[in-house]
Amino acid sequence: MSDSVDTQISNYYDKLLKRNAGEPEFHQAVSEVLESLKIVLEKDSHYADDGLIERLCEPERQLIFRVPWIDDQGQVQVNRGFRVQFNSALGPYKGGLRFHPSVNLGIIKFLGFEQIFKNSLTGLPIGGGKGGSDFDPKGKSDREIMRFCQSFMTELHRHIGEYRDVPAGDIGVGGREIGFLFGQYRRLSNQHESGVLTGKGLAWGGSLVRTEATGYGLVYLTQEMMQTHGESFDGAKVIVSGSGNVAIYAAQKVQQLGGTVVAMSDSSGYITCPNGVDIDLIKDVKEVRRERISAYAAEAGSGVEYHAGGNIWEVAADVALPCATQNELDGDDAKLLADNGVRYVAEGANMPCTPEAVHYFQSADVNFAPGKAANAGGVATSALEMQQNATRDSWSFEYTDERLRQIMTNIFKNVDKTAKQYDREGDYVIGANIAGFKKVADAMLAQGII
Ligand code: NDP
Repeated sequence: MSDSVDTQISNYYDKLLKRNAGEPEFHQAVSEVLESLKIVLEKDSHYADDGLIERLCEPERQLIFRVPWIDDQGQVQVNRGFRVQFNSALGPYKGGLRFHPSVNLGIIKFLGFEQIFKNSLTGLPIGGGKGGSDFDPKGKSDREIMRFCQSFMTELHRHIGEYRDVPAGDIGVGGREIGFLFGQYRRLSNQHESGVLTGKGLAWGGSLVRTEATGYGLVYLTQEMMQTHGESFDGAKVIVSGSGNVAIYAAQKVQQLGGTVVAMSDSSGYITCPNGVDIDLIKDVKEVRRERISAYAAEAGSGVEYHAGGNIWEVAADVALPCATQNELDGDDAKLLADNGVRYVAEGANMPCTPEAVHYFQSADVNFAPGKAANAGGVATSALEMQQNATRDSWSFEYTDERLRQIMTNIFKNVDKTAKQYDREGDYVIGANIAGFKKVADAMLAQGII
């Protein structure tokens, strides 16, 4: 590595830290990408022309707004709403909305930044954005959720649209919330613009497979990675952290492919289930009744144990799929997993592994697929939903699932090939960052300094 590229990247990063103080998750996401770009700039210095890297790290637009709503006791509550429209060089901004008390600008920026490269990797014409609120849906009534969503959309509707910005779900935003958000958008805009949100109900513009897409896509990509190393899910023991949308459908697909999901979790604790997870029961507990995973353990019968507040990464397995939230798996956890025999890790969540964990996996020859590639199935299927909306069509489950599988296979092949092109065979972090970057960068360079 030449000193000049190293210095150039350090200078960009120092400037970014100063201009974006107090946003550690954003710093972490940018730092990982910049680290990978060093070998690109070494080969192709024109990627540093025209302030390209600085422009890439600066959102095109950041919106922060007040979201007042009235709770069931008649009290006024005030939350903060965000939408970061990061990059639209490849297509309209596309990315989910997160409702969680931890949400702040730095978290939305990290997610929006990651989304640019992820969306590029799908090969579909979508730019990167992300939004959300520090609203906590836990413990709220359906009516409270509805009033909050209506207030949130009353501001957001001015900034989104089929050709401008198309939000979807994320943590705390599922089918129920998308319904309330879409209803308010339709009322305010006085048109049934189905392409404005994805993750909609099937009767009003939704796509089959969207609910399953992130989890299924994660497993399709992991399967491809395992096959490259002569292995498969058949007979494999798998840890899936979280028990939300991504985790449940990842678990389902793992078991359909002959694997056994031996542990799942929520933010209160984890369960061990040596004989596999009962998918119908976990769906009933988490999706229908919206209860804690401890309720699953209480009802699942013999062999299943609940570990309050425990560390899920202590469980022995062949494959780990972190599907809960950012930085849920650190360097110590990575060592535990590797010592216990894990050979594959793929990120279902966004940035669930700390940089220390990623380095540990790579140094211990654990095959590691980053979220940008591994969890791109959700947004890819959202783009398929947009295609169906644009043509007033609706595709079968089998057809849509096959499109998803092909997209995930192509993402893995592209990432693998790119890593090899840069003499870093098996480094899927480098492969994903560079492949995602180049497409966006080429589009930005072609479109001038904007
Ligand atoms: P859900 O809200 O459906 O589920 C989130 C799960 O993660 C829950 O089990 C939740 O437990 C757990 N969790 C959340 N915060 C924490 C925390 N601080 N510590 C431990 N556990 C936590 O969200 P999704 O399944 O949709 O999203 C999960 C991850 O996948 C996120 O990183 C998201 O950005 C990413 N993702 C999602 C996509 C999608 O299509 N939905 C697409 C691509 C990525 P609890 O109920 O206790 O809070």
